[in-house]
This record gives sequence, C-alpha cells and structure tokens, in this order.
Amino acid sequence: MSDRTHYRLCSSCKKELHFGAPYYVCSVSTCNRKRTGLTFCSVPCFEAHVPMVRHREAWAEEKMAPARDQWEAEQSAEREKESQREQARERRRVVGAGAPVPSGPLELSDDVPRDTLVVVSKLKAYIRARSGLNTSDTVLEPLSDIIRQLADDAIERAAAEGRKTVMDRDF
Ligand SMILES: [Zn+2]
Ligand SMILES: [Zn+2]
Repeated sequence: MSDRTHYRLCSSCKKELHFGAPYYVCSVSTCNRKRTGLTFCSVPCFEAHVPMVRHREAWAEEKMAPARDQWEAEQSAEREKESQREQARERRRVVGAGAPVPSGPLELSDDVPRDTLVVVSKLKAYIRARSGLNTSDTVLEPLSDIIRQLADDAIERAAAEGRKTVMDRDF
C-alpha cells in the first residue's frame, strides 16, 4: 500500500489536498479530465487558472476528497480493471497470432536455494548515499524473502495469462 498522505495537489499553489477534506474543481469539463483534472485548495487558487485557460464562464465547485481508505480501494479497483483489460488484450494478441494458449495449473517448486537476491554492495551504497547510514547484513534475508514473495506473485500473474515469460507489468 502507498504511504501517500494527500489526495491530490492544488493545481495552482501545489499545496496538498488532504483526504476527507473539501477542495474545488472547475465547472468546465476540459479542466476535469480523468487523469489530468485540475483540483484547487481554495477559490482564489481556482480563480488564478481562469485567465490562463481563457474560460468565458467558469465557477468553482466544492468537492469532498475521499477518505484515504476509500481512495486506496478505488485505486486498487482501478488497477484491477486495468489489468483485466490488459489480459484481454494479451489474449487477443495470442489468439490473433494463432499461437496456442498454454494451460494447466502451474506448479511452484519448493526445491529452491534460499540465496540472497539483492546485490549487497549496491544496496549498502544506496542506503549510505541516501542517508549516511550503515546497513547490517541481517537485512538481506528478509529483503530476499520479500523479493521471493513478489516474484511468486508475478509468476502467478504471468501464468494466469498463459505466458512463459514473467514481465515488468507482472510486478
Ligand atoms: Zn492552492
Ligand atoms: Zn477551468
């Protein structure tokens, strides 16, 4: 889950708009496109954009930002829908190419070495450059477990789409 503390930013002053708090949008539809919609912390910030986009008639509409839980639920529902659309596209591509869709349950082997999956020197260098802190070697095992878990999830997604290759979007 994200650790984001704000719903959106004010499009004028870039102040954070908090979850569960009121904010303003523009009455003009082109200012409210799904991904690029303008949001404002205050009526003056709304008014600041009006001359720039040359609206003939526009007014500020007050909205209420969703609670953080609700927003996260919406985000994950959105991601789920997007991945279903992607899967449908993938199936069409596969079918279109006349390739057989592999099927059957995938079996994950338990007989795998529990190696360290991160490049120790790079990780330590990152933490040092970022913060000046040292890194204990004991972090490598839990971190590797996290990567194994993420990889297992990605494997399942790739298999669910009938692919033989785990891809970036599986993560
Ligand atoms: Zn503002
Ligand atoms: Zn506008």
